[in-house]
Amino acid sequence: MDSDTLDRIRSNDHRTLSRVISQIENDGNISDSFFEEVHTSENQAIRIGITGPPGAGKSTLTNVLIQQFINEGKSVGVVAVDPTSPFTGGALLGDRVRMNNYIWNNNVFIRSMGSHGDLGGLARKTQDVGDILSASGKDVVIIETVGVGQGEHDVAKAVDLTLVILVPEFGDEIQMMKAGLIEIGDMFVINKSDREGAERLAQSLKSMLHTFTKKGKLEPPVFNTSADRNEGILDLYNGMNELLKVMEKEGILIQKQLDRHRNRVYNIIQDRLLKKFWTQEQLDHLEISINHLDTTQTSPHEVATSLLKKAHE
Ligand code: GDP
Repeated sequence: MDSDTLDRIRSNDHRTLSRVISQIENDGNISDSFFEEVHTSENQAIRIGITGPPGAGKSTLTNVLIQQFINEGKSVGVVAVDPTSPFTGGALLGDRVRMNNYIWNNNVFIRSMGSHGDLGGLARKTQDVGDILSASGKDVVIIETVGVGQGEHDVAKAVDLTLVILVPEFGDEIQMMKAGLIEIGDMFVINKSDREGAERLAQSLKSMLHTFTKKGKLEPPVFNTSADRNEGILDLYNGMNELLKVMEKEGILIQKQLDRHRNRVYNIIQDRLLKKFWTQEQLDHLEISINHLDTTQTSPHEVATSLLKKAHE
């Protein structure tokens, strides 16, 4: 990646952003020095994660929140991550529709990203894309993802503030606990509150959060919205800003950012070690050796140890 590319990122050239993000998505060879440079260009964009089950209204809500940020003179970058999609080639159908709303707006950049089957790498890529958007000068980076298991947890690690989106039909507390959504949310939004049962869910969620929030931690607030009617959005927006302020004042924000940083260093090291070990030659060699195994008598641990020993010779 040349310095020209970096300059174009810094000057918020959306075509360059799109190209670099595709490269990250496709695991293109991007040098470490490029990311080092990107890091020095980063402004401190606030990173917000929006997660929840499919169909909860995440995209609709993201859209109205974008509008709210624009009204306040802020620029926004959105990455819609879909771990269930093998690749996106740049945009899912829904994104094309909403991108059209902002296509001529330099303050809004929206992109989707698939997993290429590599769920493990998704968190790292999401972070890298967040860095690129931050370096382009965006004030806010929104990372939207379908909550289907590991997805929410990865998102929660990649952002400053996680919004969990639920709907009145989502069901009872046990289901929420099972879905693992309770631990990861800094804020909860019950969207589609025009529907039956929204208030009931809000009440039970609040009492549950009250019971389960650990001592010394902030109790996540709960909001009711109807994103497609633009109802409850201003309250949610203000609530978000307020919570961010409290998190900043209490040192929670900086701690989260530091944890994220540490985690990334750890993951980068792990990645590099793996890449160093799993050379093509090593992979071919190992495949042949494993395919030659024709008895189950020796313990798999013993076989692995002996193959590893050979690999190091
Ligand atoms: P996502 O899969 O979570 O991103 O959900 P979408 O934003 O694509 O929304 C799924 C469907 O729910 C769409 O048909 C939206 O129009 C609809 N929807 C979104 N927000 C609301 C809402 O507040 N109330 C109702 N009744 N429908 C909504």
